[in-house]
Amino acid sequence: MSNSQIEKLIIIGSGPAGLTAAIYAARGNLTPVVIAGREAGGQLMLTTDVDDFPGFNEGIQGPELMDKMRKQAERFGTKFVNEDVISVDLKDKPYTIKTESLILNSNTLILATGASAMWLGLESEKRLVGRGVSSCAVCDGFFFKDKNVIVVGGGDTAMRETNYLSKLCQKVTVVHRRDQLRAQSALQELVKSKKNVEFIWNSVVEEILGEEKVTGMKLKNVTTGQISEMKIDGVFIAIGHKPNTDFLKGQLSLDKKGYIVVENETHTKIPGVFVAGDVADYHYRQAVTAAGMGCKAAMDAEEYLENIKLPTEN
Ligand code: NAP
Repeated sequence: MSNSQIEKLIIIGSGPAGLTAAIYAARGNLTPVVIAGREAGGQLMLTTDVDDFPGFNEGIQGPELMDKMRKQAERFGTKFVNEDVISVDLKDKPYTIKTESLILNSNTLILATGASAMWLGLESEKRLVGRGVSSCAVCDGFFFKDKNVIVVGGGDTAMRETNYLSKLCQKVTVVHRRDQLRAQSALQELVKSKKNVEFIWNSVVEEILGEEKVTGMKLKNVTTGQISEMKIDGVFIAIGHKPNTDFLKGQLSLDKKGYIVVENETHTKIPGVFVAGDVADYHYRQAVTAAGMGCKAAMDAEEYLENIKLPTEN
């Protein structure tokens, strides 16, 4: 990969969306380059047992699943750059992608940089991630069957997580920093109708307690300042996700939350620039839906390349 070389396809991101796009594109002879990022593999690298990805009847660890996807992409000739993207220039073709040490050019791009769950930022939260602290009820809820958990947040995500967990757990307690939920009313009503869901209002988590695993938490009532402790088995943080699109600002349309605006399945307004996965999806956010979109984006890129007259190829 030299500066003068023009790639057929560069994929930015190496979660399920980016790697599935790579597998399809490599098999379609596009010799894709994946800019994997320093924290390659996306959110599944933070997940332990994955029991809902089809094909793994015994379940699989998140990092192992990503390793298998990467090896599958490599098997068909995908090249990897293990650096972060610093900036892109989508104004002229070929598009330019600047990484930490390289400047790359490509006729097509698939943007698959995903989204990152927002965390509270507590030391105890960081220490106990994967040991009772999670940001994904669908991924980890099963481990809290018949147990007591809390969900932090008051938006749609928090209500969806609460609804999901209420079907598995003995009790779900929603901890919200105000006395009103932000979530849409239908979701609020759904959750409030559950017998095993309780709310603690005007409260924030001061500390998550436990050494090897979560055993409880310390709460602060923001109106009275009162500190209280409660025993708990799991903590689900649902205070929103942030799409990883900072490097795209000013280059293409982002919505007000920073997600890429998608047209016609995987297309953007810029010809040859496609999108896959959580970077454009705040609704489903599953590995399998991201992978499906990665497949579509690769097929769309391939079709696009077949229909244009290319500048000099590598
Ligand atoms: P959100 O709407 O931004 O809600 C985040 C929630 O977390 C808010 O209640 C907020 O409190 C709370 N929060 C934020 N930072 C916090 C902190 N540091 N400590 C404690 N609490 C904190 O995020 P979201 O629920 O993930 O939704 C994001 C977007 O996706 C929304 O547009 C939503 O409609 C959409 N979505 C839709 C669905 C659906 O089923 N249709 C499902 C999921 C998401 P405040 O209320 O006080 O700000």
